[in-house]
Amino acid sequence: MDETAPGLEELSQRLAEVRRSIEASARRAGRDTSEIKLIAVSKTHPTETLRRAIEVGVTELGENRVQEADEKISELGRGTARWHLIGHLQANKARRAVALFDLIHSLDSVSLARRLDRLCEEAEREALSVLIQVDLAGEATKSGVSEQELPKLVETIGACRHLRLTGLMTLPPFLEDAELVRPYFRRLRELRDELAEREAFGAPLGELSMGMSHDYAVAIEEGATLVRIGTAIFGERRRAQ
Ligand SMILES: *Cc1c(COP(=O)(O)O)cnc(C)c1O
Repeated sequence: MDETAPGLEELSQRLAEVRRSIEASARRAGRDTSEIKLIAVSKTHPTETLRRAIEVGVTELGENRVQEADEKISELGRGTARWHLIGHLQANKARRAVALFDLIHSLDSVSLARRLDRLCEEAEREALSVLIQVDLAGEATKSGVSEQELPKLVETIGACRHLRLTGLMTLPPFLEDAELVRPYFRRLRELRDELAEREAFGAPLGELSMGMSHDYAVAIEEGATLVRIGTAIFGERRRAQ
């Protein structure tokens, strides 16, 4: 067992703090907290920590690497939580991803969409929910489609039998001052609204996956429905991601 990992009580307290602060942000924005789902981002943390998180009430876990998630999920069991893939998905990991995840936040190419659809067919998975990752800052180092590429990918997913487009995700540039990130969150919401108007999503509105430990308050004010929070729950990561 990892002695430096947060214990049950500590995790439970941090989780309660994050939930309170999500509620406060929602209230400020005149939103209902039930619209906002907390995804605990457990990447780099040992399986034992995930087990504890589940014990204190976490139901949604986010991982960014398929292989790491595979190891943890095989120890904990596929049904112990809802599993979210939040990192870039390589083509050669797509088959495992179809077996492991409830929601893929990082769909970012036409070829990956077609591959996932084909793999669902092979695995007899009726439906796989996906979000399109949009790169709003044009950062070459980041994955995600540009706004210009978005319509084509939406159309491709619409033609895939097994993929369900449920919303959009973004990972804006890391800026110490979260206020500076607000325009990216706002833009993602506008794109989501335009797509919702054209009935691109299964649900009427469409999810907005945005906001991390340092900027989720702003993301919630701008309409986030899925916040991806690691450090504020689990503490600092020892491995850089
Ligand atoms: C690591 C990660 C997070 C969580 O980041 P924290 O700052 O630890 O809350 C959220 N989203 C993505 C895509 C990540 O890779």
